[in-house]
Amino acid sequence: MSLKTISTNFTSTKRILPVAVFGMMLGLAGCSEPAATEDTAAEESVETETAESSEAEATTDAGAETVTIYSSRNEQLIKPLLDRYTEETGVAIELVTDKTGPLMARLEAEGQNTPADMLLTVDAGNLWQASQQGLLQPVTSSILETNVPAKYRDPQGHWTGLSLRARTIFYDPNKVSADDLSTYADLADPKWKGKLCLRTSKKVYNQSLVASMIDHLGEERTEEVVRGWVDNLATDVFGDDTSMLEAIAAGQCEVGIANSYYYGRVLEENPDFPVGIFWANQGTTGTHVNVSGAGVVANSDNPDGTLQLMEWLSSDDAQGIYASADKEFPVKEGVDKSEMLSSWGPFEQDDINVQTFGELQTQAIQLMDKAGYK
Ligand code: FE
Repeated sequence: MSLKTISTNFTSTKRILPVAVFGMMLGLAGCSEPAATEDTAAEESVETETAESSEAEATTDAGAETVTIYSSRNEQLIKPLLDRYTEETGVAIELVTDKTGPLMARLEAEGQNTPADMLLTVDAGNLWQASQQGLLQPVTSSILETNVPAKYRDPQGHWTGLSLRARTIFYDPNKVSADDLSTYADLADPKWKGKLCLRTSKKVYNQSLVASMIDHLGEERTEEVVRGWVDNLATDVFGDDTSMLEAIAAGQCEVGIANSYYYGRVLEENPDFPVGIFWANQGTTGTHVNVSGAGVVANSDNPDGTLQLMEWLSSDDAQGIYASADKEFPVKEGVDKSEMLSSWGPFEQDDINVQTFGELQTQAIQLMDKAGYK
């Protein structure tokens, strides 16, 4: 048996989703990343996504022996790992890839008829959102409880983290000394006026970061910080982290905030990339860490098989591959990091339960809007 892949791309447009679904997509869209990143290559307008997103006719319910995954993670990234699972267990896997918003809209629209068994996506904010919409079912697993620290799992068991990414500070070492850097909040200091670059506040990664700051600093102080960031911007906000890192390299700004794996990808292409990584908030709350993760779909007809796959993804073997494939950190403690990640040195992670990012998401979005962060 082999892995069957169904990717919702622009060329496979066949049907238009109902208006109600389109409305849900509008609410969930807004993530934009360059092609060939984890949120799949479908990065164009919402309208285009709508036209391309219904593949129900291509995806038949494959039954209890198959696990069907709705994934916002890049196919190249996870396919080798899933192939290995199929080899080891004989369990067939169907993979449907798209952006998170359309996948969730589709799960909602398909309801009980969904062929999906697992939702695989990035950011605790997204996983929380899926759980809030009733798209995931709670599971209990002593294996997940052993392998995945509690702070990276939903306390109610609707989803679990499977890899970690740090959202931290990057800088131009020609103009900035690491000694000048300390916390996310410090980037609001007037000393960084005209020197800061940020990605748009529309991206869930920044919503989760600001949610964590609300939890740690309170709403009032966080708003002050976000206003300070906006005052310090060197240029308009960026659509993705990679462009932001390149702007630092090009001398357009001196400091910025990005996810660690984007830096890892750039370094792999260009080991001399002239940007430094700094672990934020050491000695205070720790560096902001988020997850990629998965949950069992509420209407799955194979919840046991799906849970077994999730458990396998949390095992030592799978963790090493899954995390290193995209320059992420394993979620399981004691699994070796890649050489590149080890070279960045150890750091204290924020201890917050990542579910908080979802709980405070609306508050974070409103706060950023009020503070003028586009
Ligand atoms: Fe990303």
